[in-house]
Order: sequence, then structure tokens, then C-alpha cells
Amino acid sequence: MDNCIFCKIINRQIPAAVVYEDDRVIAFNDINPVAPVHVIIIPKEHIASANDLTAGNSDILSDVFLAAQKIAEKTGIAAKGYRLINNCGADAGQTVFHMHFHLLGGVVLGPKII
Ligand code: 5GP
Ligand code: ZN
Repeated sequence: MDNCIFCKIINRQIPAAVVYEDDRVIAFNDINPVAPVHVIIIPKEHIASANDLTAGNSDILSDVFLAAQKIAEKTGIAAKGYRLINNCGADAGQTVFHMHFHLLGGVVLGPKII
């Protein structure tokens, strides 16, 4: 997608600190981390938000979760725990409309809202 910042990271048009990549997903450090480990995991296919998942493309979610598991292991947070967060849409504060998951860990995380 033209003008999608995360598609530009996938295509190496803008730099990012890539921590994991396979044929379907890529993960890189968030530019504005809120925890010692703050990795953005995205599908290589442009899917704008969780609202745009379909029966035809939702198998990407298992790839995202398996990537998260590997990254958690690699960054040393698997045993202590982490959060995997998706913000969908305006009320949730989504700012980049290429569906992504925040992998957060390396510290005792803040209060849960649910
Ligand atoms: P959202 O607010 O949409 O859930 O999350 C978007 C995230 O993308 C934010 O945490 C923001 O810091 C991160 N981000 C935005 N632009 C860039 C960028 O160009 N590079 C990287 N590495 N992260 C970005
Ligand atoms: Zn995109």
C-alpha cells in the first residue's frame, strides 16, 4: 500500500530494527518504546485493522502469535510474561492503519484495564 509506513518498513523503504522475519510476518522495535521490550509484529500483507480480517486472511493471526512466542523467547521475556496488544480503530487509539500487535515485556507491566 502506498503511504503506509509499515508497508514501507516491509519494503525496506524506511529503516527499522528488525528482530524477526519470515515469509508472512515481520517484527521490529517500536520507535517509541514504552517497555524494555516493545516489538511491533505485523503481517506482510496489508490489512488495515482487525476489522479487516476475514475468513480468508485470518490465519495470519496464528503466524503473529507464533512469531510473538519466538521473539519472547529470544528477548528473554517468555518465562516472566508479556502482553500482546492490538489496538483497533479510533477509540482504541490505533494510529497506524496496518494491523499490528505490540509485544510488551521486560518489566512488571502497568495496571490491567481488563
Ligand atoms: P498504535 O498506536 O497504532 O497501536 O501503534 C503504532 C505504533 O507504531 C506506535 O507505538 C508507534 O510508536 C509505532 N511507530 C510509528 N511509526 C513508526 C516507525 O516509523 N517506526 C517504528 N519502528 N515504529 C513506529
Ligand atoms: Zn501497510
